[in-house]
Amino acid sequence: MCSERELTKENRRGKVTVVSGFSGAGKGTLMEGLQKNYPGRYALSVSVTTRKPREGEVDGISYHFKTQEEFDRLIEENYFIEYARYVDNSYGTPGPFVEQNLEAGRDVILEIELQGALIAREKYPDAKLIFVTAKDADTLIDRLTGRGTETEEKIRKRLLRAVDEADGIENYDYILINGDLQESIGRLHEVIQSEDKTRPSQEDYAVIRNIQSELKRRLSI
Ligand code: 5GP
Repeated sequence: MCSERELTKENRRGKVTVVSGFSGAGKGTLMEGLQKNYPGRYALSVSVTTRKPREGEVDGISYHFKTQEEFDRLIEENYFIEYARYVDNSYGTPGPFVEQNLEAGRDVILEIELQGALIAREKYPDAKLIFVTAKDADTLIDRLTGRGTETEEKIRKRLLRAVDEADGIENYDYILINGDLQESIGRLHEVIQSEDKTRPSQEDYAVIRNIQSELKRRLSI
């Protein structure tokens, strides 16, 4: 008799899940937690970026760090499923990694921003789109400034981008308010695995709208 894992691999193509979210929402930590709590269950796509590595980031694990010329060559070679600009840098999802893992029956997670998320959904119409946020603007700003990786100018640009991204929230199937980490990891796993289509609640939309208006106020826009 086949084990469940072998059956899964043979019979089922993996699913694509897109995880987006405001800068400072804790997406990276959530992704790490998902891999730790469910070892081997998820293939987390490692993007290509022209952004410089932050302290502690490892080439090939956090991102594939490339120059803009290298990135442009990959675009010409049709290497990406999608790519986008985000705060002065380019980011793209490697096609071969995603396709190989889906073929092998593994569920693939793309941790990408809104523009990329929309392209990914065109290519993979069954993809679930999940948006991660902190509970309020203060928490987002504290996390973003507290990690000490960004200049003030970059933080402002990231917050401006968050204001824009909030306008795209209707495109997402689920809003995850990332408070307690372990609880959020469990919920993320449940949402990804659920066969049901979800829609965010009015309360979840209100959280996003409140964050957007508070960010606008803080940024004086
Ligand atoms: P960070 O610089 O904070 O690592 O990422 C900045 C933004 O780029 C985040 O919103 C992240 O989700 C997004 N991002 C990372 N990789 C990709 C990618 O391959 N494609 C797109 N479209 N966005 C990405």
